[in-house]
Amino acid sequence: MRVSQYMISTLREVPAEAEVVSHQLLVRAGMIRKLSAGVYSYLPLGWKVMQKIANIIREEMNQAGGQEILMPIIQPAELWQESGRWSVYGDELFRLKDRHQRDFCLGPTHEEIITDLVRREITSYKQLPLLLYQIQCKFRDERRPRFGLMRSREFMMKDLYSFDRDEEGLDISYNKMFQAYVNVFKRCGLSFRPVEADSGAIGGSSTHEFMVLANSGEAEIVYCSDCDYAANVERAESLIRENNDKEAEKERELLHTPGMHTIEQIAEFVGVNKEKTIKTIFYESDKGVICAVVRGDREINEIKLLNQIDATELKLANDETVKRITGSDPGYVGPIEIKGIEIIVDEEVLQLKNAVAGANKEDYHFINVNYGRDFQATKVADIRTVKAGDFCPRCGAVLNSARGIEVGQVFKLGIKYSSKLGATYVDENGQEKPIVMGCYGIGVGRTMAASVEQNHDEKGIVWPVAIAPFEVIIVPATMKDDRQAEIAEKLYQDLLKAGIDVIIDDRCERAGVKFTDADLIGYPYRITVGKKTVSENTVDLKTRSTGQEITLQLSEAAEYVSRLVIENR
Ligand code: ATP
Ligand code: MG
Repeated sequence: MRVSQYMISTLREVPAEAEVVSHQLLVRAGMIRKLSAGVYSYLPLGWKVMQKIANIIREEMNQAGGQEILMPIIQPAELWQESGRWSVYGDELFRLKDRHQRDFCLGPTHEEIITDLVRREITSYKQLPLLLYQIQCKFRDERRPRFGLMRSREFMMKDLYSFDRDEEGLDISYNKMFQAYVNVFKRCGLSFRPVEADSGAIGGSSTHEFMVLANSGEAEIVYCSDCDYAANVERAESLIRENNDKEAEKERELLHTPGMHTIEQIAEFVGVNKEKTIKTIFYESDKGVICAVVRGDREINEIKLLNQIDATELKLANDETVKRITGSDPGYVGPIEIKGIEIIVDEEVLQLKNAVAGANKEDYHFINVNYGRDFQATKVADIRTVKAGDFCPRCGAVLNSARGIEVGQVFKLGIKYSSKLGATYVDENGQEKPIVMGCYGIGVGRTMAASVEQNHDEKGIVWPVAIAPFEVIIVPATMKDDRQAEIAEKLYQDLLKAGIDVIIDDRCERAGVKFTDADLIGYPYRITVGKKTVSENTVDLKTRSTGQEITLQLSEAAEYVSRLVIENR
């Protein structure tokens, strides 16, 4: 390819709205352009990277036994009603009507569609296991589309669905996909970590997210400093330290605490650690009002809470509701003598002795509050948010935290969709059984953005060879010198013949302009043909990732660079 004929649209200015570096650089390097919020066009360079990532994914899916298909983007509401998700998926679903007023949506994911396909095509155990996938546009009307390709409303996703006879089969498919994901992200040159995750709206039991470690990541993960436990904080657990102090239960007392309505204030006033206080929060949900109780230094994990009460929506109760239930303002509420609603108490609270809690009376708290004697849960559960410094649930070592970008997720769905939609097969004994499913997604654009987050410097992007828009750029310092132009052209032809993805910057621009563009776009290798090439038969080879520049004999340059590229693909 020749730069003179290629659409290179580099920009000097940083786009004003681009908050994260990948968004800035993908726009500046001329890879993407915004059409509207969360909706992007891919220019030739950007689309080439997308295709390379898609091809790596395709190779790994095929290697694992996947078969590629393509399903429609437009999905009829009836299937979503059958699965029960039409009413619960919420505002993220792009809904539309056809001319006959029939309801449709633009696919945010394809469980319903593929389960419908499979229930029609698969009848016997002989046809299982089956792995089907597609690489296609998905649509989600995100609340906050942002960060360029990271959280967009129209985006490319690879989604694979596995179909097995039983749970053991699913385990095999799941592990195959897990390994395929490791291969994909390794080949894309990413530093990543699989973590345990919450299964969210898709449902199912076991699930892992693949997190690319980056400070700009929207997700927070915790990981053990000793063993390989790692989890999204949405789901992370921590070890409960047993309370071994022999302190006797004291008599509960009412304490006048005027104006003390935060945990900090009351802990200081009473002279105890926040760990010895109790935090009580009321929520409204589709299952009624809920009272959630955690240790005072803790945050409530609303996702865990939601799962515990099996609700789909949860929001903080307003002051009026809190007052109706407790008789007090939220600043003075506690779990004592709360009646008629569900009270979910975090496990850790059971370890507290003689704790401080709100008295459900303006300007008053209780001291010496003890679980069991003074209040009771309707359910004891893990509803706390784990943080760095907590202890690993597996081995007890200290947990650290980091930020991550979720680039992929694998789920065990079980029979959630097959039972609702009636996707069954007949086993060896003639018995009809639901097909056991899994689903597995990778965001292609988000993977590209995540790669830029990890691979860039002040000059621009630093693509790993495997997903670079071109592997090598040849830069003749000036096209006005016929010998330079000729030698560069010959080198270009030699590299093409060797199967290298090469581009030549044959523009009549100053060398500096060409170098600046090359650094911004981030080609892994740059060969410069200049005066010395003509006088001394040498070229300069610069490696973008290290900045290292070496001189090569012209006669050996093509072979040397080809070998280098192939080794690093
Ligand atoms: P998130 O929690 O970030 O909203 P999700 O868990 O809803 O993502 P999945 O349903 O697991 O996403 O989708 C599979 C993959 O698709 C994700 O791992 C991610 O790489 C990609 N993806 C999801 N939503 C978006 C989006 N709005 N923009 C770009 N990529 C996305
Ligand atoms: Mg996900």
